[in-house]
Order: sequence, then structure tokens, then C-alpha cells
Amino acid sequence: MKYKNFYIENYGCQMNISDSDIITSILLNHGFILSENLDKANIILLNACSIREKAELTLKKRLEQLKFLKKKKKIWIGIIGCFSKEITKFFWNKKMVDFFIPPDSYREIPNFIYYSIMGMQYLSYTKKKNETYADISFVKTKQNNKKITSFLSITRGCNNMCTFCIVPFTRGRERSSDPDSIIKECKHLYQNGYKEVTLLGQNVDSYLWIEEKNIVDFSKLLDLLAKEIPMMRIRFSTSNPHDMSNKVLEVISKHKNICKHIHLPVQSGSNKILKLMNRKYTREEYLFLVKKIQSIIPECSISHDIMTGFCNENEQDHQDTINLMNEIKYNYGYMFSYSPRPGTYAYRKLKDNVPKHIKKKRLQEIIDLQRKHSFYRMQEHLGRVEEVLIEGESKKNNQYWYGRNTQNLIVVFPKKFLNIGDYAHVKIKDTTSATLIGELFI
Ligand code: SF4
Repeated sequence: MKYKNFYIENYGCQMNISDSDIITSILLNHGFILSENLDKANIILLNACSIREKAELTLKKRLEQLKFLKKKKKIWIGIIGCFSKEITKFFWNKKMVDFFIPPDSYREIPNFIYYSIMGMQYLSYTKKKNETYADISFVKTKQNNKKITSFLSITRGCNNMCTFCIVPFTRGRERSSDPDSIIKECKHLYQNGYKEVTLLGQNVDSYLWIEEKNIVDFSKLLDLLAKEIPMMRIRFSTSNPHDMSNKVLEVISKHKNICKHIHLPVQSGSNKILKLMNRKYTREEYLFLVKKIQSIIPECSISHDIMTGFCNENEQDHQDTINLMNEIKYNYGYMFSYSPRPGTYAYRKLKDNVPKHIKKKRLQEIIDLQRKHSFYRMQEHLGRVEEVLIEGESKKNNQYWYGRNTQNLIVVFPKKFLNIGDYAHVKIKDTTSATLIGELFI
């Protein structure tokens, strides 16, 4: 086939990056060629995200740019990943996109490309309830040859139905991959030079595999992986506070190769807002869980997602979030203001009634507060010697290595002897709110 060079751009979370790896493997196995840059490609895949309005706006802008390229040369554009029916209609009517492929139909991508090249505009809403892509092995390419960390999806979809979230509609019901295939894939990654894997799912703690009398929950899966591949660092994301069990915490504390970091989205510190969001925990239960994490895994870092300006959020609700942040002093976090997503319960039934300028002000307040807390938490590392997996050169100074410690905090230190993929013992000498700065400890 003449047109077989493809290029993928990601517009979403770690799950999208992991999906792009799956799609790359599928296309390479069908004789397509991964292009290093856009100019060499005929097939351009945009891996979309609909979780926030901003991601959709970025995608629209990108398509406007690609329209010019489409006029100059023969290219076919596909939107893949998380996209709403509304966004599909928008691009479909404008004839800017040749095909749309949702997360459960990636195996059909080669066909979609052939149809498009033959002149058809193609759209799939297929939802294959059991699709996990567990049998698809990661393929090393020139582009990812130097990478030493990888993502691996262990669950897909979500059953939680948070009222603001589009994921249950775009990614479908939750399903878990076979534990044997997860272990096999992690071994495959390790044999191909990967030193760290991040297990992904919208809600990893509800991972569950039942086969006759064999029941594997998330704690058991972590335990199996940690034992089977002791030299591989294991991370995971995301944890829903509602589902995190003591058993998981005990397994994390037991194994050195399971990293001591938990991403624990809280979204709001107000019980009223948590209820409106249909988050299935209260502020008190969340704080109790954090205390449990701190007592079972004292060195564990905790990060968050917080959404400001959700429907009916008043100043008191906002202060409840501020107080919760002050109580926990998270290591870091991801903060956003609410934007209604078409198709969700909140979009249909609740009023987006917090004015934009108030959302903006509250968001700035929590960002500023988090910066202070991050700096406070980073200072706890001063003087310590920490194990760092070297991931590459520091972007700011090529005389420095860049890596992460077990708490998922970035560490930079002057290059000496070691290489990418090596573990270094680094004495922490200085810090900013985002980076630990150290020296090799010999
Ligand atoms: S847990 Fe809630 S926010 Fe997370 S993916 Fe599921 S529905 Fe969305």
C-alpha cells in the first residue's frame, strides 16, 4: 500500500499514552510505518480527550492547522480515544476528519484507514464490553527505544458515574485484564529494557479477575507482580478513595519495588459537593484514609485532583477544600475549574452557576496553596539519600541527570559515571517546589 506512514498526537492522560502504544503495535503488525514527524506521515491520528473543555478546544485548534496541510498533500486524519457524540458531529459536519475510532475499536483501525483511503468517511460507536487488549504486546520502535518507563492498562472503563465525568460514556463499563497477561507483558517490558511500569486504570483499586476458584484483586495483583519481577519498579494510577483497601496499603509497604506514591483524587473538601459529584466517600472518610496511608506507609507521597467551581459550590465549600488541603499538605496535585461536559448528568441536570471569575479566583487560590505545600513537603527530603531511577538528561541543563525517586518526585543531579536506566543514590541538597536537587552519593 502506498500510504502507510502514520503519526500519533496525544491530547489526554496517561491512559491515552498507553492507548497510543497499543495502536502503534496494532498498526506496525499490519505493515504500517510509524513516522518520526508529522511531515512524513499520510495518516494522522489525534488521540483525543473529552474530560475537560480545554482539551477539546486544543483539538479544534489543531484540526484548523491540519486543514492547511490537508489542502497541500494527501493526508487522512482520524480522531481516536475519548470523544463525545457532540464533538463527532461538529467535525463530521465540517468534513475535517476522515474517521473516528472510540477506545474499544482500536483493532479495527487498519480497516478504518483503508476505507478512508478509498474515499469513505467512517464513524464507529462500537462498545465491545470485554475488550482489554491484553494480548497486544508492546513493540519497541526507534521513537521509544531509549525509554525506560512504560504504562500498562490493567482495567478499562469505569462504573462510578461521577456526575461531571464523561469517561463512563466514552470508555464504557469497567473490565479487568487477565493477571497472567499483565505479568507476561510486564516481563516482556523488563526484557526490553524497561525499568518501571505504571499500571493504569480509571480506578485501579477495583481491579478484579475471577476464574473458577481463583480470585485476583488489586492487592493480589500487586503482590504477584512485585514478586515475579523484583527488579522492576511498579507504580499505579488512579486510585478511587472509595475502593482503596488496607490490603493494598500493606502490599505497597511490604515490597521495595512498589513505589511509595498514591494519587488520590479528592475533587472537593465539601461533603455537599462530593454528594453532588456522586463521589462515594465523605470528607471524613477521605481524611481517615489519608491517615491510614500515612501510618501504614509513612514515607508515602500523596497527590490529588481538585476541581473548583462545581455546580452550587459556595465560598464555604471552597473553604472546606482549602482546609482539607491544609490538613493533608499534599506533595503535589492537578487542579482544574469545572467545565460542563455534554452527555454527563451534571450537564443535563445541574446548573453551572459559579461565575467564571469566581472559578478563576478559587482555582488560583488552591494553586498558590498547593505550591506552598509542595515546597514544604520537598524540604522534608533535604539531607536524605534517595534512590533515583535515571530517566534522561535534565531539560534545563544537559550536564545534569533527571529521574524520579520512589515518591514520584523529580530529582536532578550532576552527571557522573552512570547512564539512563541506572539507579543512583542521590543526596538531596536543595529544592524548589517542583524539583529536588542533589549530588551523587558514593
Ligand atoms: S471514577 Fe469518576 S472521575 Fe474517575 S473515571 Fe470514573 S466516573 Fe470519571
